[in-house]
Amino acid sequence: MADTFPAVVIEDADGKQKAALKQLSLADLPDNDVLVKVEYSSLNYKDGLALLGKKIARRLPMIAGIDLAGTVVESRSGEWQAGDRVVVNGWGMSETQQGGYSRYQRVRADWLVRLPDAFSTLQAMAIGTAGYTAALCVDALDDWGTDKDGEVLVTGAAGGVGSVAIALLTKAGYRVTASTGRPATHDYLGKLGATAFVDRAELQENGGALQKERWAGAVDTVGSTTLVNVLAQTVYGGAVAACGLAGGADLPATVMPHILRGVALLGVDSVMAPMAKRVRAWERLARDLDPALLDTMTDVQPMSGVIGLAGDIIAGKTRGRVVIDISR
Ligand code: NDP
Repeated sequence: MADTFPAVVIEDADGKQKAALKQLSLADLPDNDVLVKVEYSSLNYKDGLALLGKKIARRLPMIAGIDLAGTVVESRSGEWQAGDRVVVNGWGMSETQQGGYSRYQRVRADWLVRLPDAFSTLQAMAIGTAGYTAALCVDALDDWGTDKDGEVLVTGAAGGVGSVAIALLTKAGYRVTASTGRPATHDYLGKLGATAFVDRAELQENGGALQKERWAGAVDTVGSTTLVNVLAQTVYGGAVAACGLAGGADLPATVMPHILRGVALLGVDSVMAPMAKRVRAWERLARDLDPALLDTMTDVQPMSGVIGLAGDIIAGKTRGRVVIDISR
């Protein structure tokens, strides 16, 4: 093991947060039970915010990266042995806990999920937190009893959560409509399973409190007026799994869809989700996500360039999933 290794660290620079590539040693890592050699992480929307200094990190210095996949090197926990292939999503990494953009990281034993045999560590991070969140959303819609004969909408469709959600919903038997602001992605989204498209601008205009009923269910990654319109267009007894804020964190809504149509707003959080939900989500991904389809959504980039990609994901310019190769 080399004495020092590279990591992306968010530091204080004259009262502002700034990300930089640094050399660390094992002594710089937290004293958690399991030392993991990180092979891949990924670039999620929240990573973009953190790298741009948008105060995602709540203490400094903070190693960035909200997820990681790799191999256990040392463990003080009976549950994990050297050589185990593992994945960690969330648990405050890059916020209150040191994150995955580091050749090595020490994590708590109860944060780890065993990597399903179906996936390499690269594929695990092609899924990453965005894909695992998509699986949580599909589980939530299934648990609600969403009508499989109806039409299901995915907003922010060409992004990471959206892309994986389309593939999983299609495999689960839903008929999927994709809302995107990029018509050039229609072909890509069609290959993932989308059968119809809605221009995202249509969902950004203020509509009525109750609109024509269309969606049996939806996965919303956009929030704000988009989510309000999706709720207003959801059929009687339908549900919307809301996980994102790419269009804004506000919700200028009325109670009408909920009290007159029984529409449910299902909040989805991946960061502190209990282990049973995580394992179920990863089982769905292993069972339902075609690795060949996953490859079409994936772009692999070196960790040395990740700071330069932060602006792209926040501007909605990345397509599908960006994997971060920690060895480069
Ligand atoms: P991406 O940037 O990959 O995807 C977001 C997509 O949203 C874009 O590709 C774009 O889709 C659309 N979009 C971007 N900006 C706007 C805008 N201003 N108005 C409307 N649509 C927009 O991000 P992720 O898929 O990684 O994450 C999506 C959202 O989900 C983020 O808000 C993220 O914070 C949240 N999230 C929440 C989690 C949780 O635990 N609750 C976990 C993971 C993610 P298109 O080009 O197709 O229109």
